[in-house]
Amino acid sequence: ENAFASTLPMIEEAQRPSDAIAAPLFAICGRPNVGKSTLFNRLTGTRRSIVGDEPGITRDRIYGEVDWEGRVLRIVDTGGVIPDDEALIPREIFRQAQIALEEAEAIVQVVDGRSELTLPDIDLARLLIRSGKPVFLAVNKMDTAQIAPQAESFRTLGYKDVFPVSGEHGLGMGDLMDAVAAALPQTEPEEAEELEEVWEDEATDEEAPRERKLRSHGEHVSKETSIAIIGRPNVGKSTLLNALTGSGRAIVSPIAGTTRDAVDETVERNGHSFRFVDTAGIRRKGKTTLMAEKLSVIMARKHLEAADVALLVIDATEGVTGLDANIGGYAHESGRSVVIVVNKWDAVTTNREDGQAPADQKVYTEQVRHALKYLDYAPLIFISARDGINVDEVFKKVQLVARERRKRISTGQMNKFLDHVEFEKAGVPYNKRLRIYYMTQAAVAPPTFILFTDRDVKLHFSYERFLENQIRAQWRFIGSPIWFKVRARN
Ligand code: GDP
Ligand code: GDP
Repeated sequence: ENAFASTLPMIEEAQRPSDAIAAPLFAICGRPNVGKSTLFNRLTGTRRSIVGDEPGITRDRIYGEVDWEGRVLRIVDTGGVIPDDEALIPREIFRQAQIALEEAEAIVQVVDGRSELTLPDIDLARLLIRSGKPVFLAVNKMDTAQIAPQAESFRTLGYKDVFPVSGEHGLGMGDLMDAVAAALPQTEPEEAEELEEVWEDEATDEEAPRERKLRSHGEHVSKETSIAIIGRPNVGKSTLLNALTGSGRAIVSPIAGTTRDAVDETVERNGHSFRFVDTAGIRRKGKTTLMAEKLSVIMARKHLEAADVALLVIDATEGVTGLDANIGGYAHESGRSVVIVVNKWDAVTTNREDGQAPADQKVYTEQVRHALKYLDYAPLIFISARDGINVDEVFKKVQLVARERRKRISTGQMNKFLDHVEFEKAGVPYNKRLRIYYMTQAAVAPPTFILFTDRDVKLHFSYERFLENQIRAQWRFIGSPIWFKVRARN
């Protein structure tokens, strides 16, 4: 008997009609159990689409569309995460508010009208009201007209606009949505056109139509990729940066809110923006070797935080050192996509000072792969930054991995795939086996999969490896790590 049977998914993607590319977005926020999902479903007419994930790791949120009096409005439920741990709620509240404020043009806070206000309700209200965006309070679970006036007591939160609603019974929706719709801007036709173009451009491979859809539903619509150039001292990071930015039109733009010497440079190429993060930092050198080495690690970690893609630069004349491996490890753990750049290839192929035979790319690749095993998903290229050889290829690889990391596999596809995975071959000790009922991709960048299982245990290493290999055989996700989470289905 197959102990790893999968069943059909219980969670399906929400319906995503594709005619609302530039429709304005409003957010619903609120602590767990106040009825956000119920309200979301009521307004969109769909079932909740994707479950949440750990705070700070993925930016899970759920998007839908609301047809309101002939207008299409987009809605995002920012409360995808339900922390088990009460202590995590304040962080979650803050995160929600941040997402809402970043993305949405109006915000509805939902509270439970049948229970006392809690501290998270109050904190969230304070954050949202202070933002200056149009904000509304929906007092939920006001299931009859008789109790609706009780909603007034929630004015203490500081909201001017308070609406008693019942998500479950569909009461009060009209007044709430009239107010929200009035606060949202009309879509500019030009904006819609521009976004449509972005759409078309992105639709170049098999996955793209899917990506397009998602983009139009709230993921940031942007063709900019931010890039960290990382590596130990003297591998050629600055030289590479010069080669990359010198070859296109570089726009130097200080980013607001960072220290003055943190400067990003953007290069436009093939209709894509490449932003190199903190170029001043990349050029900075430590005074002593030790200092330079420490600095290179600190910079790598800092730059990874601000990037989508990391260029891990290796010096071909020295091969992979411990410090390279260390920095590569940070890149792997950061969830960023990685391209391994073997630089100074010119120096090992011709006129070797040490009298050794010219290096062979195949042999060299094997050595690098062996030393950086955990980065086996990262493309590897050989360049000479100094001579500008193969520098073009860097742009291409960055674009490729940037696209790959945002791919999304539907729950339907995923479960069709899961049906054919032979988990018996994973080589997992019997007592560590678990039953995977189904699987869903909860996030992109990096692609993050949630496995719904019979037991709440950490995924055994061999399982993870096995599953990752299977997923890559099918969908590749070139350059990107793949993350897994386990959820016990109860
Ligand atoms: P979320 O965690 O904020 O998304 O909350 P849910 O939508 O999952 O709802 C939490 C609980 O409140 C569920 O048991 C719902 O059935 C219930 N609930 C949601 N809306 C209403 C409502 O309008 N009236 C009543 N009585 N219960 C509701
Ligand atoms: P960083 O400390 O990583 O920023 O390294 P630099 O860009 O300052 O380069 C360190 C040294 O390596 C300099 O002397 C560069 O001229 C040299 N270098 C950089 N790229 C190449 C290359 O592709 N080939 C060769 N032969 N030397 C290079």
